[in-house]
Amino acid sequence: MSMTASLHTLQLRVPFKIAHGTSDTRQVLRLQEGGHITEAPFVPYYAEDPAETLRLVSMPVLPPRLPRAAALAFNLLRHDIVCTAQGVPLRAMAAARLGEEGRVPPACHSLGIPDDLGVFEETVGRLARQFRVLKLKLGGGDLGLDIATVSVARMAAPEAALILDVNGGWDPVQAAPMIDKLAGYEPALIEQPIHHRHGMAGWENLRADLKASAPPIYADESAQSAADVAELAGYADGVNVKLLKCGGFDGAVAMIEAARAEGLGVLLGCMIESSLGTTAAAHLAPWADWIDLDGHLHVLNDDFDGLRFSGTGELCMPERPGIGAVPREGL
Ligand SMILES: [Mg+2]
Repeated sequence: MSMTASLHTLQLRVPFKIAHGTSDTRQVLRLQEGGHITEAPFVPYYAEDPAETLRLVSMPVLPPRLPRAAALAFNLLRHDIVCTAQGVPLRAMAAARLGEEGRVPPACHSLGIPDDLGVFEETVGRLARQFRVLKLKLGGGDLGLDIATVSVARMAAPEAALILDVNGGWDPVQAAPMIDKLAGYEPALIEQPIHHRHGMAGWENLRADLKASAPPIYADESAQSAADVAELAGYADGVNVKLLKCGGFDGAVAMIEAARAEGLGVLLGCMIESSLGTTAAAHLAPWADWIDLDGHLHVLNDDFDGLRFSGTGELCMPERPGIGAVPREGL
């Protein structure tokens, strides 16, 4: 059976502003073979060229090293074919290495850096009626806005677990005092406070500057592979695991294995992608401490039906073999 590759443009509901910049569309790579279809996103952060990736995956003989989006789409395609043939969901592949499924954590909804705190407050209050975990993007360069954002969210959602994602937007000198200030709002965790370019020395210094009572600090951009996870142990309390980072489901499983071996927490994340992409990642939810799988909720033209969130913010997985997401009728 022959495989076809294509690019697909996702339109964002509202431009999503984070420390790396603002986007209103994202491209994804799709691979299809028979009834099997998989997706991998392109993100500005990795600067992979969608057209060049499409050219490479369409060659009669694949190059030995593929861009990470291509590697992920192929890895998922192989697993989807095998799992479907065996009649098991994708997570069966993870269970073989990670053991019995644990309790799936409550789902999280992310909010970009706010332009208008009044609108933001209203949005937080509305989302908190469904989601018990909210992720706030910080690190846009205005430390006062960062503090106001967390303060407003805490007032609007007193019961919510707040994940603060700085995307590396704080200077190493600012990071420890900011963490200390924000600790008063009792965040569940703070993600990637300093830029990954500061390397392990940056993490070592940050840890030395933090009080013992600091909230848990998770690494995202600094944790790209299982080897990074092992290196971060001692400095970070947990890591954000995403399928795209390590170019596949197996690499993500290896990151979770490494995190567990080091006693680190696991936040399972995703990029902005359709339900096809977030559903694939969601198969790892039973082995995560936190899940941030709302990438498809930011997409206006989500053309797949897969994972869903219940009215009380529980993750509901499709009961189908393989990835389990199917094209939505009429799109
Ligand atoms: Mg992050």
